[in-house]
Amino acid sequence: MIENLVREEIKGFKNYKVHSIPYRYKMDANEAPFELPEEVIKNIQEIVKSSQVNVYPDPTAEKLKEELARYCKVEPTNIFVGNGSDEIIHLIMLAFVNKGDVVVYPHPSFAMYSVYSKIAGAVEIPVRLREDYTYDVGSFTEVIEKYRPKLVFLCNPNNPTGSVIEREDIIKIIQKSNGIVVVDEAYFEFYGNTIVDVINEFENLIVLRTLSKAFGLAGLRVGYAVANENILKYLNLVKSPYNINSLSQAIALKVLRTGVLKERVNFILKERERLIKELTKIPGIKVYPSKTNFILVKFKDADYVYKGLLERGILVRDFSKVEGLEGALRITVSSKEANDYFINGLKELLP
Ligand SMILES: *Cc1c(COP(=O)(O)O)cnc(C)c1O
Repeated sequence: MIENLVREEIKGFKNYKVHSIPYRYKMDANEAPFELPEEVIKNIQEIVKSSQVNVYPDPTAEKLKEELARYCKVEPTNIFVGNGSDEIIHLIMLAFVNKGDVVVYPHPSFAMYSVYSKIAGAVEIPVRLREDYTYDVGSFTEVIEKYRPKLVFLCNPNNPTGSVIEREDIIKIIQKSNGIVVVDEAYFEFYGNTIVDVINEFENLIVLRTLSKAFGLAGLRVGYAVANENILKYLNLVKSPYNINSLSQAIALKVLRTGVLKERVNFILKERERLIKELTKIPGIKVYPSKTNFILVKFKDADYVYKGLLERGILVRDFSKVEGLEGALRITVSSKEANDYFINGLKELLP
């Protein structure tokens, strides 16, 4: 009976699978290898106490928005906070995408664009990246002219390929679009280039950011959107009133104020270059350039490498069965210890 009650879009739907494989070093989900800053740990009791968990959280996350606005050099009214940027992708669908509307996104890219499109009953048009995973802007503008999408996703830098799209090309795509253009900047801190400065020039632009990657707060679930007030008005209409819990708001605020970001990002960038250099020495594998905290690598036998790493306790992300990513594994740049362990393991597997 339940089968008959389920929405058409959900029948046969397969959601994002998160597997729980035992590991010693987690290099599969682009998380940061750092603990909370010491200053935050030291004051954690105070933070918890002052966040008053017996009352509902601030529904608009006002203080957090102010701090994020300062960080992005925009006004607090240009910030919308979500329970992870995943939630914001979902809310954008809720606010703007009718069943049958066209949603365009790069392929290969972040899986959630497709997941939430399917839940919304959208018509998905993936736009292939080039062979080397660079953005093919011509294909995007062609598809936009032909299908007039309600929503276009650009992931910059792109997950899982590490490739980027240039500012002028993003602007070209925004200008061509009658729908919303979402630029997902989850890895902005590792790249350094952003499009947030033009949110008031283009009424259809939403920039997505997160505290899950460079800020190292994936477990708190805090993402945010930067856009003009007119768009954010509609996201506020469809959100749950208390979407960000008190502890997440309080801890995120403290972490934003500690100023550990730069040092941590520099560490990751240095480790990334070291890993790339080591990887390039191993014959028979292809390493893709990266502007992020992860590296996409192609192997002749990705299965053998994935399993061999896992036997050594190293968990990486297997994309080798995804169309367009044959042979590819994605490695998150982690602590020095983890990175060394990974490289040594790989050298054992591919002598
Ligand atoms: C990790 C990631 C996100 C999700 O971030 P959350 O804020 O943790 O939901 C969004 N977009 C891309 C491209 C990502 O890689």
